[in-house]
Amino acid sequence: MLPPDYHMHTPLCQHATGEPYEYAITALKNGLTEIGFSDHAPMPQDNFDNWRMSYHQLDSYIDSIIQVQKKVPDLQIKIGLEIDFIPGCEDWIRSLISRYSWDYVIGSVHYVEPGWDIDNPGKIHLWKKHDINEIWIRYLELVNAAAVSGLFDFIGHYDLPKKFGHRPTVDLSAHHKIVLLNAAKTNTAIEINTAGLRKTCSEVYPSADILNLALESGVKIVFGSDAHSPDEVGFHFSEALELVKSLGFNSSVNFSKRNTTEFKLF
Ligand code: ZN
Ligand code: FE
Ligand code: FE
Ligand code: ZN
Repeated sequence: MLPPDYHMHTPLCQHATGEPYEYAITALKNGLTEIGFSDHAPMPQDNFDNWRMSYHQLDSYIDSIIQVQKKVPDLQIKIGLEIDFIPGCEDWIRSLISRYSWDYVIGSVHYVEPGWDIDNPGKIHLWKKHDINEIWIRYLELVNAAAVSGLFDFIGHYDLPKKFGHRPTVDLSAHHKIVLLNAAKTNTAIEINTAGLRKTCSEVYPSADILNLALESGVKIVFGSDAHSPDEVGFHFSEALELVKSLGFNSSVNFSKRNTTEFKLF
């Protein structure tokens, strides 16, 4: 049985297509028994950027998923949120979390400095102005802070800076070990995000060497396609499963109202 796909978006974020209902139907067709929506959460200012829902859309986001839960009773459909971790925004994140009884919340780092979301294709030129290793270390410090905060159920796309092929040229395993130990301590899982297979980096987030460290640290895993259109639901899950099996994982976690249960993969 396939694990749930816990990372999918809705048109409210302004860069995803297809209605949540279509995602659910595709999930059933692809043999999934559980999915979860996790659209980009609002920021304190609605004009923060142009790739998220605004604050006043939160209720309609939740309602739209509840409608699909009713229309597609054969599928378990969870309600989550992908929240940007930015230091200083912790109170805002807490207020978002208390807005609803989410099944899970994802902590994602996209911004390494004000105005630079490193996965934004429109800002790829900014990479040329920075030292790649320095950006990786700064990014991992932010992911570490997200893990230490204990605010999130799992970390999204753990090694996102590789998206466009920017790889560190130094060994960062010491940094990874710190992050992963903190994630284990705060019971923060990490996501096997198959969107990386659709990008220049051509591999899942995180890469196999990091997943090995995660296994050693006792960090739990979940799966997400980061679907921004219905055809991406459950994207290459069998490939991701093969990978984690070869590394020695045998279970992932499922979420319900922010409680975890073990999901036997093999
Ligand atoms: Zn997105
Ligand atoms: Fe993201
Ligand atoms: Fe996402
Ligand atoms: Zn994402």
